[in-house]
Amino acid sequence: MDLEVLTIGNELLLGLVQDTNASDLSTTLAECGFRVVRRTTVGDDADEIIRAVREALDRVDLLVTTGGLGPTDDDITKSAVANLFGVTLELDAAYLADLESRFAAFGRSPMPASNRSQAMVPMGAEVIPNPRGSAPGLWLTKDRKNVVLLPGVPDEMRGIVREELVPRLSERFGSGKPVVTRSRTLRVASFGESALADYLDGIQEEVAPLTLAFLPDSNGVDLRLTAWSMEAGTADSLLRDAAGMLAERLGEKCYGYGDVDMASVVVDLLRERKISLAVAESCTGGLLGGRITAVPGSSDVFLGGVVAYDDSVKERLLGVSRSALQIHGAVSVEVAEAMASGVADRLDAGMGVAVTGIAGPAGGSESKGVGTVFISVHHVGKTSTVERRFLGDRALVRHRSAQEALNQVRLCLTRS
Ligand code: ATP
Ligand code: MG
Repeated sequence: MDLEVLTIGNELLLGLVQDTNASDLSTTLAECGFRVVRRTTVGDDADEIIRAVREALDRVDLLVTTGGLGPTDDDITKSAVANLFGVTLELDAAYLADLESRFAAFGRSPMPASNRSQAMVPMGAEVIPNPRGSAPGLWLTKDRKNVVLLPGVPDEMRGIVREELVPRLSERFGSGKPVVTRSRTLRVASFGESALADYLDGIQEEVAPLTLAFLPDSNGVDLRLTAWSMEAGTADSLLRDAAGMLAERLGEKCYGYGDVDMASVVVDLLRERKISLAVAESCTGGLLGGRITAVPGSSDVFLGGVVAYDDSVKERLLGVSRSALQIHGAVSVEVAEAMASGVADRLDAGMGVAVTGIAGPAGGSESKGVGTVFISVHHVGKTSTVERRFLGDRALVRHRSAQEALNQVRLCLTRS
């Protein structure tokens, strides 16, 4: 079943708000076997809305819109579409009563008058409940053409789609055997996109009929396998097999699936092995500790850390020797190792990790350019270090440094 999506809002056209509703609808509906064949965006303008709806219904039998259902004057989708369908708005008494009781439950009685407009429904339209907000979804049908109006607030829209729209679509338009488009993602650490492509040479043929996309970002490269328009059982088993084959080929380079965060992988491993962690951070200035403490339950394994930005702090709080700092400089293997063992020692942690580098834009030299970072991990009396040269601006170098530090902790744990 093909459908189109129309997102409505001046803020979308101005680029002030990212159109996440359109992409969410595409992915969710594809998973359920409905193909979004075109996406359009218009502003809060009745003529533009009417024109876009009419044009879409010339091409397909089903259009889903989001936005412009609110109680304010700029929210005009409902009246525009009612106008196009040649029906008037009438008060839905049951919905009004429901809305009033929900406002009362939050101690907001009487309900603001402007919210009454949300109980005005195009004649003959089906009201789709929205427990997360005040504007319901609406389904209008005429001559086998269907328009579904959804609120613009992303989490309200997502909720309605999942809980109300997908079941209705499947019931009304679904075939017996659901055809789906589904993806599975593997996350790969510290590997450039082209190096990874070389490493996986010939992989597209191997995973066919699935496709494999390389998606680099500041965390590494995501490998996304996609099964296009297949029967659900076939898609799932092809994805499972291909993901297993890829995971085996990648070995320790793959740190997880979906949108898993490296920090949570590290926290889980530390917990499993009953090892505590301390961090010593120079160029990341707390970012690494921040990543770890963002993981719920990290207090089981994370002791704390030292933001040792100035040399004097590296000396006084971590016991890095003045001579090491003078001879090798703060960005060096020697200092990174002394920071890692120093923090593990002073915080009595099973494992210490240290990051020292040049985040830029200034501070680089010929031998140690901007982006040069040393990461050391200290564990059971041994310290190992990697040197990296990260590309990007200051924020990116800092982010990549923290990500790679987490990766080094992960590798130390899985290898030992
Ligand atoms: P409400 O009942 O809350 O007023 P609404 O249907 O009127 O909902 P809008 O007023 O158009 O929706 O938008 C509500 C919020 O949702 C705004 O913050 C808007 O920026 C955001 N929003 C609207 N459309 C989209 C979209 N396509 N993608 C992401 N965010 C969106
Ligand atoms: Mg709007």
